Amino acid sequence: MELQRFGRVKVNGRLFTSTNENIHAIGDVIGPPGLASAAVKQARIVVDGLFGDGGESGRGSGADKKRMYHAGCFLETPTTLWTVPEVASVGMTQETALATVEKNKAKEIIVVGYCFWKDIARGRLTDPKGYVKCTGRFSESSRAHKIVGWEIIGEGSNELIQTAAILLGETAERVSSTPFAAVTLGASLGLACDDMLAKSKHTERRTLKVGSK
Ligand SMILES: Cc1cc2nc3c(=O)[nH]c(=O)nc-3n(C[C@H](O)[C@H](O)[C@H](O)COP(=O)(O)OP(=O)(O)OC[C@H]3O[C@@H](n4cnc5c(N)ncnc54)[C@H](O)[C@@H]3O)c2cc1C
Repeated sequence: MELQRFGRVKVNGRLFTSTNENIHAIGDVIGPPGLASAAVKQARIVVDGLFGDGGESGRGSGADKKRMYHAGCFLETPTTLWTVPEVASVGMTQETALATVEKNKAKEIIVVGYCFWKDIARGRLTDPKGYVKCTGRFSESSRAHKIVGWEIIGEGSNELIQTAAILLGETAERVSSTPFAAVTLGASLGLACDDMLAKSKHTERRTLKVGSK
Protein backbone atom coordinates (compact mmCIF):
# COMPACT_ATOMS: atom_id res chain seq x y z
CA MET A 1 0.00 0.00 0.00
CA GLU A 2 1.07 3.51 -0.69
CA LEU A 3 1.90 5.44 2.43
CA GLN A 4 1.86 9.18 2.91
CA ARG A 5 3.33 11.55 5.46
CA PHE A 6 3.52 10.08 8.99
CA GLY A 7 2.94 6.60 7.51
CA ARG A 8 -0.74 7.27 6.80
CA VAL A 9 -2.35 4.90 4.32
CA LYS A 10 -3.40 6.61 1.09
CA VAL A 11 -7.05 6.03 0.12
CA ASN A 12 -9.46 7.43 -2.45
CA GLY A 13 -12.87 8.96 -1.75
CA ARG A 14 -14.45 5.50 -1.38
CA LEU A 15 -11.72 4.43 1.03
CA PHE A 16 -9.95 2.01 -1.29
CA THR A 17 -6.20 1.88 -0.82
CA SER A 18 -4.35 3.16 -3.82
CA THR A 19 -2.64 -0.02 -4.93
CA ASN A 20 -5.09 -2.80 -4.18
CA GLU A 21 -8.81 -2.58 -4.79
CA ASN A 22 -9.47 -5.40 -2.34
CA ILE A 23 -8.00 -3.54 0.60
CA HIS A 24 -9.75 -0.66 2.28
CA ALA A 25 -8.48 1.52 5.08
CA ILE A 26 -10.43 3.58 7.61
CA GLY A 27 -9.91 5.37 10.90
CA ASP A 28 -6.81 6.87 12.39
CA VAL A 29 -4.55 5.05 9.93
CA ILE A 30 -5.75 7.25 7.03
CA GLY A 31 -5.19 10.53 8.88
CA PRO A 32 -7.38 13.41 10.04
CA PRO A 33 -9.71 13.91 11.76
CA GLY A 34 -8.60 10.95 13.92
CA LEU A 35 -11.97 10.69 15.65
CA ALA A 36 -14.04 7.62 16.51
CA SER A 37 -17.14 9.22 14.97
CA ALA A 38 -15.38 9.56 11.61
CA ALA A 39 -14.00 6.00 11.80
CA VAL A 40 -17.52 4.60 12.34
CA LYS A 41 -18.89 6.59 9.38
CA GLN A 42 -16.01 5.48 7.18
CA ALA A 43 -16.64 1.85 8.15
CA ARG A 44 -20.26 2.20 7.05
CA ILE A 45 -19.20 3.63 3.70
CA VAL A 46 -16.89 0.65 3.13
CA VAL A 47 -19.50 -1.95 4.14
CA ASP A 48 -22.15 -0.32 1.94
CA GLY A 49 -19.67 -0.33 -0.92
CA LEU A 50 -18.93 -4.01 -0.41
CA PHE A 51 -22.47 -5.26 0.03
CA GLY A 52 -24.36 -3.25 -2.54
CA ASP A 53 -26.63 -0.30 -2.70
CA GLY A 54 -29.05 -1.07 0.11
CA GLY A 55 -27.24 0.57 2.98
CA GLU A 56 -27.00 4.06 4.34
CA SER A 57 -24.87 5.48 1.55
CA GLY A 58 -27.06 3.87 -1.10
CA ARG A 59 -30.20 5.75 -0.08
CA GLY A 60 -31.14 9.06 -1.53
CA SER A 61 -29.90 10.58 -4.70
CA GLY A 62 -27.96 13.53 -5.99
CA ALA A 63 -26.79 15.86 -3.27
CA ASP A 64 -27.98 13.54 -0.47
CA LYS A 65 -25.97 10.65 -1.78
CA LYS A 66 -22.91 12.76 -2.40
CA ARG A 67 -23.16 14.13 1.09
CA MET A 68 -23.30 10.63 2.56
CA TYR A 69 -20.36 9.44 0.57
CA HIS A 70 -18.43 12.38 1.92
CA ALA A 71 -19.68 11.86 5.45
CA GLY A 72 -16.38 10.35 6.52
CA CYS A 73 -14.43 13.31 5.35
CA PHE A 74 -12.60 15.68 7.59
CA LEU A 75 -14.68 18.81 7.08
CA GLU A 76 -18.08 17.35 7.92
CA THR A 77 -16.97 15.69 11.14
CA PRO A 78 -17.62 17.84 14.21
CA THR A 79 -14.72 18.37 16.57
CA THR A 80 -15.68 18.62 20.22
CA LEU A 81 -13.45 19.54 23.13
CA TRP A 82 -14.72 18.66 26.61
CA THR A 83 -12.95 21.58 28.17
CA VAL A 84 -14.34 24.39 30.31
CA PRO A 85 -15.75 26.07 28.34
CA GLU A 86 -16.66 23.46 25.72
CA VAL A 87 -15.29 24.21 22.26
CA ALA A 88 -16.74 22.75 19.07
CA SER A 89 -16.39 23.29 15.36
CA VAL A 90 -17.39 21.79 12.05
CA GLY A 91 -16.60 22.68 8.46
CA MET A 92 -14.41 25.60 7.51
CA THR A 93 -13.22 28.47 9.61
CA GLN A 94 -13.33 31.98 8.19
CA GLU A 95 -9.63 31.65 7.41
CA THR A 96 -9.84 28.33 5.59
CA ALA A 97 -12.90 29.49 3.64
CA LEU A 98 -11.06 32.62 2.56
CA ALA A 99 -7.96 30.62 1.58
CA THR A 100 -10.13 28.26 -0.50
CA VAL A 101 -11.78 31.14 -2.33
CA GLU A 102 -8.41 32.70 -3.05
CA LYS A 103 -6.85 29.40 -4.15
CA ASN A 104 -9.72 28.66 -6.54
CA LYS A 105 -9.89 32.30 -7.65
CA ALA A 106 -13.63 31.98 -7.06
CA LYS A 107 -15.89 34.99 -7.42
CA GLU A 108 -17.25 34.55 -3.93
CA ILE A 109 -17.30 36.56 -0.76
CA ILE A 110 -16.77 35.05 2.67
CA VAL A 111 -19.20 36.44 5.21
CA VAL A 112 -19.51 35.61 8.90
CA GLY A 113 -22.28 36.00 11.45
CA TYR A 114 -22.20 35.83 15.23
CA CYS A 115 -24.64 35.20 18.04
CA PHE A 116 -23.28 36.08 21.46
CA TRP A 117 -25.11 34.16 24.16
CA LYS A 118 -25.26 37.10 26.51
CA ASP A 119 -27.80 38.53 24.05
CA ILE A 120 -30.20 35.55 24.25
CA ALA A 121 -32.30 34.32 27.14
CA ARG A 122 -30.95 30.76 27.11
CA GLY A 123 -27.37 32.00 27.06
CA ARG A 124 -27.98 34.16 30.09
CA LEU A 125 -29.35 31.08 31.88
CA THR A 126 -26.41 28.81 30.93
CA ASP A 127 -23.21 30.46 29.75
CA PRO A 128 -23.42 34.14 28.81
CA LYS A 129 -19.77 34.06 27.71
CA GLY A 130 -20.49 31.60 24.89
CA TYR A 131 -21.05 32.41 21.27
CA VAL A 132 -21.74 30.91 17.86
CA LYS A 133 -19.90 31.95 14.72
CA CYS A 134 -21.17 30.95 11.30
CA THR A 135 -19.06 31.23 8.15
CA GLY A 136 -20.77 31.50 4.80
CA ARG A 137 -19.89 31.85 1.13
CA PHE A 138 -21.85 34.29 -0.99
CA SER A 139 -21.83 34.13 -4.76
CA GLU A 140 -23.50 36.55 -7.16
CA SER A 141 -24.69 33.64 -9.29
CA SER A 142 -26.70 31.97 -6.54
CA ARG A 143 -27.52 35.17 -4.63
CA ALA A 144 -27.39 33.02 -1.50
CA HIS A 145 -25.12 32.59 1.50
CA LYS A 146 -24.08 28.94 1.65
CA ILE A 147 -23.05 27.85 5.13
CA VAL A 148 -19.55 26.33 5.13
CA GLY A 149 -18.62 26.26 8.81
CA TRP A 150 -19.58 26.75 12.43
CA GLU A 151 -17.51 27.47 15.53
CA ILE A 152 -19.13 27.39 18.97
CA ILE A 153 -17.73 28.12 22.42
CA GLY A 154 -19.59 27.75 25.72
CA GLU A 155 -21.59 25.29 27.76
CA GLY A 156 -23.66 23.09 25.44
CA SER A 157 -21.41 23.63 22.39
CA ASN A 158 -20.70 19.94 21.98
CA GLU A 159 -24.42 19.18 21.65
CA LEU A 160 -25.25 22.19 19.50
CA ILE A 161 -22.52 21.40 16.98
CA GLN A 162 -24.41 18.26 15.91
CA THR A 163 -27.32 20.36 14.65
CA ALA A 164 -24.90 22.83 13.12
CA ALA A 165 -23.18 20.01 11.23
CA ILE A 166 -26.46 19.02 9.58
CA LEU A 167 -26.90 22.62 8.47
CA LEU A 168 -23.61 22.65 6.54
CA GLY A 169 -24.42 23.31 2.89
CA GLU A 170 -27.76 24.93 3.76
CA THR A 171 -28.22 28.61 3.05
CA ALA A 172 -28.17 31.21 5.79
CA GLU A 173 -31.39 32.49 4.23
CA ARG A 174 -33.15 29.20 4.99
CA VAL A 175 -31.78 28.87 8.52
CA SER A 176 -32.62 32.50 9.23
CA SER A 177 -36.22 31.94 8.16
CA THR A 178 -36.62 28.78 10.26
CA PRO A 179 -38.57 29.35 13.47
CA PHE A 180 -36.39 28.20 16.39
CA ALA A 181 -38.00 27.44 19.73
CA ALA A 182 -37.65 30.26 22.23
CA VAL A 183 -35.16 30.04 25.11
CA THR A 184 -33.02 27.40 23.39
CA LEU A 185 -29.37 27.43 22.46
CA GLY A 186 -30.47 26.20 19.03
CA ALA A 187 -31.94 29.64 18.42
CA SER A 188 -28.39 31.01 18.39
CA LEU A 189 -27.79 29.20 15.08
CA GLY A 190 -30.64 31.16 13.51
CA LEU A 191 -29.48 34.42 15.07
CA ALA A 192 -25.93 33.93 13.76
CA CYS A 193 -27.46 33.57 10.28
CA ASP A 194 -29.57 36.68 10.89
CA ASP A 195 -26.34 38.48 11.71
CA MET A 196 -24.67 37.22 8.54
CA LEU A 197 -27.59 38.56 6.52
CA ALA A 198 -27.54 41.87 8.39
CA LYS A 199 -30.97 41.13 9.88
CA SER A 200 -29.88 41.08 13.50
CA LYS A 201 -30.30 44.10 15.71
CA HIS A 202 -26.65 43.57 16.68
CA THR A 203 -25.40 43.38 13.10
CA GLU A 204 -23.91 46.79 12.70
CA ARG A 205 -21.74 46.36 15.75
CA ARG A 206 -20.58 42.80 15.15
CA THR A 207 -20.63 41.56 11.60
CA LEU A 208 -17.25 41.26 10.00
CA LYS A 209 -17.33 40.86 6.26
CA VAL A 210 -14.30 39.51 4.46
CA GLY A 211 -14.16 39.98 0.72
CA SER A 212 -12.12 37.93 -1.73
CA LYS A 213 -9.66 39.74 -3.92
C1 LIG B 1 -6.83 9.88 24.81
C2 LIG B 1 -7.70 9.83 23.61
C3 LIG B 1 -8.96 10.44 23.67
C4 LIG B 1 -9.80 10.41 22.57
N1 LIG B 1 -11.02 11.03 22.65
C5 LIG B 1 -11.87 10.96 21.60
C6 LIG B 1 -13.16 11.53 21.67
O1 LIG B 1 -13.55 12.13 22.67
N2 LIG B 1 -13.97 11.45 20.60
C7 LIG B 1 -13.59 10.79 19.46
O2 LIG B 1 -14.37 10.71 18.51
N3 LIG B 1 -12.37 10.22 19.37
C8 LIG B 1 -11.50 10.30 20.40
N4 LIG B 1 -10.24 9.73 20.30
C9 LIG B 1 -9.82 9.15 19.02
C10 LIG B 1 -10.39 7.75 18.84
O3 LIG B 1 -10.02 6.93 19.93
C11 LIG B 1 -9.81 7.19 17.54
O4 LIG B 1 -10.05 8.10 16.47
C12 LIG B 1 -10.45 5.86 17.20
O5 LIG B 1 -10.22 4.93 18.22
C13 LIG B 1 -9.86 5.35 15.87
O6 LIG B 1 -10.34 4.04 15.62
P1 LIG B 1 -9.48 3.05 14.75
O7 LIG B 1 -10.33 1.83 14.60
O8 LIG B 1 -8.97 3.73 13.54
O9 LIG B 1 -8.17 2.73 15.59
P2 LIG B 1 -8.06 2.04 17.06
O10 LIG B 1 -9.28 2.26 17.88
O11 LIG B 1 -6.74 2.51 17.60
O12 LIG B 1 -7.99 0.52 16.72
C14 LIG B 1 -6.85 -0.08 16.15
C15 LIG B 1 -6.74 -1.46 16.77
O13 LIG B 1 -5.74 -2.17 16.05
C16 LIG B 1 -4.97 -2.90 16.98
N5 LIG B 1 -3.67 -3.17 16.36
C17 LIG B 1 -2.65 -2.31 16.14
N6 LIG B 1 -1.64 -2.95 15.53
C18 LIG B 1 -2.04 -4.21 15.35
C19 LIG B 1 -1.43 -5.34 14.75
N7 LIG B 1 -0.21 -5.30 14.21
N8 LIG B 1 -2.12 -6.50 14.73
C20 LIG B 1 -3.37 -6.56 15.23
N9 LIG B 1 -4.00 -5.53 15.81
C21 LIG B 1 -3.33 -4.38 15.85
C22 LIG B 1 -4.89 -1.99 18.18
O14 LIG B 1 -4.58 -2.74 19.35
C23 LIG B 1 -6.30 -1.44 18.22
O15 LIG B 1 -7.18 -2.24 18.97
C24 LIG B 1 -9.38 9.77 21.39
C25 LIG B 1 -8.12 9.15 21.34
C26 LIG B 1 -7.30 9.19 22.43
C27 LIG B 1 -5.93 8.52 22.35
